[in-house]
Amino acid sequence: MNLRLRQWQRLIAEARSEPGLLQDLMIQVSQALKADSCSLFMVHHASEQFVLMASNGLAPEAIGTLKVPRDKGLIGTIGQRQEQLRLKDARRHPAFLEVPGIGEEDCRAYLGVPVLHQGRVVGVLVAQQFGRRQFSSADEALMLTLSAQLAESLSTLAMERLLDEHTERLGQRLRGQPVSPGIAIGKTVFWSSDISLTSVPDKQADDPQAELDRLRAATRSLKEELETAADALRTTLPETELLLFTAFGQILTDAKLWEELQAHVARGLWAPAAVRKTFTMYATRLADAEQGYLAERSEDLLDLGQRLVRKLLVEKRKEQRWPKGTVLVAESISATMLAAVPRDRLVGLVSMRGSPTSHAGILARALGVPAIFGIDGLETQALDGREIIIDGYRGDVLVEPAAAVHAHYKDRLREEEARLRRWRSLSKQPAATRDGHRVPLMVNVGSSLDASDELDARADGVGLFRTEVPFMLSERFLSEEEQTGLYRKVLKAMKGKPVMIRTLDIGGDKQLPYFPIEDPNPFLGWRGIRVSLDHPELFLVQIRAMLKANRGLANLHIVLPMVSQTDEFLECRDLIRQAHQELLAEDRKIGDLPPVGLVVEVPSSIFQIRTLARHADFVSIGTNDLTQYLLAVDRGNERVAQGFDALHPAVLNAVREVVRGAHREQCPVHVCGEMAGDVMGAALLVGLGVDGLSMSHPSLGRVRELLAGLTLSQAQAWARSARGLDSGAEVRLWLTREFAKYRLGYLLSGVEARR
Ligand code: PEP
Ligand code: MG
Repeated sequence: MNLRLRQWQRLIAEARSEPGLLQDLMIQVSQALKADSCSLFMVHHASEQFVLMASNGLAPEAIGTLKVPRDKGLIGTIGQRQEQLRLKDARRHPAFLEVPGIGEEDCRAYLGVPVLHQGRVVGVLVAQQFGRRQFSSADEALMLTLSAQLAESLSTLAMERLLDEHTERLGQRLRGQPVSPGIAIGKTVFWSSDISLTSVPDKQADDPQAELDRLRAATRSLKEELETAADALRTTLPETELLLFTAFGQILTDAKLWEELQAHVARGLWAPAAVRKTFTMYATRLADAEQGYLAERSEDLLDLGQRLVRKLLVEKRKEQRWPKGTVLVAESISATMLAAVPRDRLVGLVSMRGSPTSHAGILARALGVPAIFGIDGLETQALDGREIIIDGYRGDVLVEPAAAVHAHYKDRLREEEARLRRWRSLSKQPAATRDGHRVPLMVNVGSSLDASDELDARADGVGLFRTEVPFMLSERFLSEEEQTGLYRKVLKAMKGKPVMIRTLDIGGDKQLPYFPIEDPNPFLGWRGIRVSLDHPELFLVQIRAMLKANRGLANLHIVLPMVSQTDEFLECRDLIRQAHQELLAEDRKIGDLPPVGLVVEVPSSIFQIRTLARHADFVSIGTNDLTQYLLAVDRGNERVAQGFDALHPAVLNAVREVVRGAHREQCPVHVCGEMAGDVMGAALLVGLGVDGLSMSHPSLGRVRELLAGLTLSQAQAWARSARGLDSGAEVRLWLTREFAKYRLGYLLSGVEARR
């Protein structure tokens, strides 16, 4: 069975670029089920119909032409109920719809399964048999497995068709890297980070008089600034240079120049664009004069225009109104920008530069905002105030799309919102398996930006606060006070629930711009706790800040990253105790020494787990690094990315060793790597006996729903079987089938991250 499924998986992957291969798949499935026909119907988004995509057994001319309304027939029933249908005699079903001349007249036995992608039906897979027969439950499981495998490909094909059909009416379609999943429909706001005269976009202003007033105010203020500067420099600059300031002042009040500016504004242009047009026109004229002196003045004029534009834009930004449904567009999105836009207004991010591992990428995921970065040829300036759709699953950016495309995405957004509501309502109950086994679900945060009241309600704590993120976003080391404020915000937001703050984990692929670490082999070099032990002054400041932040709250847990030797842990723990004693002498109310734990992510710690667990108050498994080190696959290297899989049986066995060893020492274990937020990973981890899961918050809902559909003994059985398989790919394939069998297959598509 596995071999066959593997072959099919390959075929399906290739069918994404060559849909004709689906025909081969139908032949193979018919043979496997000993069925007379096997057919695949795909949803046609624009016409709300199912279209026959591929078939073995039905009339070949029906392929591509046979269409069934989405709410009619057995296919419509499967689509609407999102449930499989297994019938001895299809003709007796009330929804049966006769389609003459396609070769199904004599078919009786029927097995149809929905193909679900991100919770919505994208197709239906049907097997039929002449005469009466009951397809078996094993046949059903096979079809469900196939449908889970087909989901991604079919969704891609359906989407491509929809977009192709509307190509001529699509304003613009751009592709980039999907950085944070989700759909956003909104209006773009372009944020120019380098405020330069030439990059000012043409925008229409609502109120020309207000634009003119802004222009006058900015000019006045610039003139005053120039005069003040000239006064200050009077004693140091030669008279000839000072004349330049006077000349600047005269230009700014020049009547002809103002006529031009006013004419542009009167035509409805906003002030910065009026400045760009006017100043560049004058500058070009001067440059064309080809006389040395005048040509130089041309540069001065541009310089002056630049200052005026900066003034206008800086002022404008202060009063920037963020429309509801803002999609922020920039050449490069920074954390400062993210902090400036109110969270309830921001629905998406589009950026020319950046990657999933960039700071903004990490933050976008942490905030749950769909984002697409790295878009070649993105004309950011032209993207201001435009209707836009971003598909953070595929990496599509659609500017002013056709009505049918818009309607399709609107539907998907509605479905996403419904799913979110379902997850929110689920979050009112404690996270537990169907048979009541409680599994605390915690959240990973990268800054205080992502700790909010809502999170507090949805998560059982913070399982990992990556403190290097705020350090990476800063231009220097953060002071003790700054850190205290940052940590306290998160500790407070979680209202008594545990918050595990990890000490600075820099090195590897996490660099501070102001503290570069150059290592020939960074992942095996100066990283995490090694840096902290070599710089106790930095470490102690951080610990003091954490302890102070914890005053009166008492929910702090300190976690140490990259521990490979027991001594490293003990030395750090001594430093923490020392800092605590010192602070206690200064302030009796600082509270008790918080629990101190470690991240198990270096293979040596697996084999010393009992010793470590005897000293530690808790253990957190970092499956990202653990997988990287166990499999010797660089987690950031695209070339070997195929080999990086946290579901590899070696990783599963390692987790089991850690859980067993730590539990023998009564030390609790939770997992904070991305594996905890992957539904397959989460199911296995629960089966392996971990005491809690910590993940980025967009995964909380999905994992909670998974738990609600699973029993502990089921998860344990899965973990046992998976540990004995050959590879991560085997585990995924096998689990796909198991998920389908237990009707959990719909949770698999669009899973946020693989690690
Ligand atoms: C890990 O390694 O699994 C982990 C959680 O830490 P990070 O991804 O920050 O290295
Ligand atoms: Mg790590």
